[in-house]
Amino acid sequence: MSKINLRITGPTPLPDPVREAMRTQMVSHRSGEFRDMMTHLVGDLGELFGSAARVLPFTCSGTGGLEAAIVNTLAPGERAVAASSGYFGDRFVDIARAFGVQVDVVSVPWGQATDPAAVRDTLRKGPAVRGVLLTQNETSTGILNPLEELCRVAREESDALVLVDVVSSLAATDVAMMDWGIDVAIGATQKALMSPPGIALLGVSERVLAARRGAPRYYWDFGRMAASIEDGTTTFTPAISVLYALRAAVAMIKAEGLRQVFARHEALAGWCRDSVEAAGLELFAVPDHRSPTVTAALVPPGLSASTLRDRLEAEHQVLVSSGRGEWKERVLRIGHMGNATVEDVEHLRNALIDVVTHSPMPTFGRRRAW
Ligand SMILES: *Cc1c(COP(=O)(O)O)cnc(C)c1O
Repeated sequence: MSKINLRITGPTPLPDPVREAMRTQMVSHRSGEFRDMMTHLVGDLGELFGSAARVLPFTCSGTGGLEAAIVNTLAPGERAVAASSGYFGDRFVDIARAFGVQVDVVSVPWGQATDPAAVRDTLRKGPAVRGVLLTQNETSTGILNPLEELCRVAREESDALVLVDVVSSLAATDVAMMDWGIDVAIGATQKALMSPPGIALLGVSERVLAARRGAPRYYWDFGRMAASIEDGTTTFTPAISVLYALRAAVAMIKAEGLRQVFARHEALAGWCRDSVEAAGLELFAVPDHRSPTVTAALVPPGLSASTLRDRLEAEHQVLVSSGRGEWKERVLRIGHMGNATVEDVEHLRNALIDVVTHSPMPTFGRRRAW
C-alpha cells in the first residue's frame, strides 16, 4: 500500500474511523436500524448546511447533484443567471444549458472572485430570472466567492431560486442556507466531508419543495426523495457503505466542533499559502478571496505543472493537482480539506521548496511571462 500524502482537490484521505466504518455488513435500507441511522445522519447534516435545510442524499458524484439541482428547479426555456469564476462554475452553466435553460453568465478572469455588483447588473437586465447559479468555492482557481453577498443580491433583485455549488466548501466553511436564503446547496462526500466518493448531499429549502418546478426527471426527483427521507430511508438503494463512512466522519466533525473545524481549515490554508510563497511561487487567487480548502499556485515560467507534480510524487510521495482548462500546466493546486493536518502541509512545504529549488529555471523570478 502506498503511503502517499494525498493533497489533491478530491477525493481526500479517509480518517481511520471512516475506513473502519466501510467494513460494516450490509443491512436492508428498509430496516429500522437503517432508518434510525439515516434520520440521525440527515439531522446532523442539516447543521452543516446552516439549519432548516432538508438534506437529500443521492447516490452519485457531485456533478450528479448539480444536475439534480437544475432539473428540480428550472424548465427548458426558462432564464437563469449564473456566476462563474472557473471550471466548476462553467460546468454548472453547461448542465443548465444541456436542459435547455437560457443562461446569462457573469464571468471573471480565473483567479478572481465573482463581483456581486456585476451579478446585480445582470439580474436587472432582461426578463424574469427563475434561477441564480453560484459557486461558493471555485476548486479550479482556489477562490472563495463572497457567497453571503451574492445571495443577498440574488434575493434583492429577483424571486429566483438560488442554487449553490458548495461541493468543496461544505464542512470547511460557513454555508448558512437559512440566513443567506439559499434554496439548493450541493455538496459531496469526497471533499471536506472526508468520506469516500459516491453520495451527493443536497440541502433544500421549503420553497423548492413547495414549488415543484423544473424539467422532467425520475431518479433525481426531490419530492419523492424528500418523502422517503421523512420516512428514514432513500427512494432507491443507496451506497450504504458510503453512508456508514459519512456517519463516522460527521461524528468526528461534531466531536471537534464545527467552528473549530472551520478555524482549522483557515489555519491550514494560511500555512499552505505561506508555504507556496516560501517556495518562491506566486498565489493564483486574488487576496481577500482565497480558499480555505484549495491553494492554487502559479507555476514559474519555464516549468510545467505536470513536471512539478510528478516530481513531488516521485521524490517526496506527495500528490497535488495540476490546473484545469487552459491553466492546466500553469497552475498547481493543493488540497487541504477534511482530514488534513499541520504535518501534511509541513511535508508538502518542504517537498515544494526542495523541488522548486532544484529545478532548472532560466526565467525564474519573472512575473507571469505569458
Ligand atoms: C469536486 C467538485 C465538483 C464535483 O465533482 P464530481 O467529480 O462530480 O464529484 C463540483 N464542484 C466543485 C466546486 C468541486 O470541487
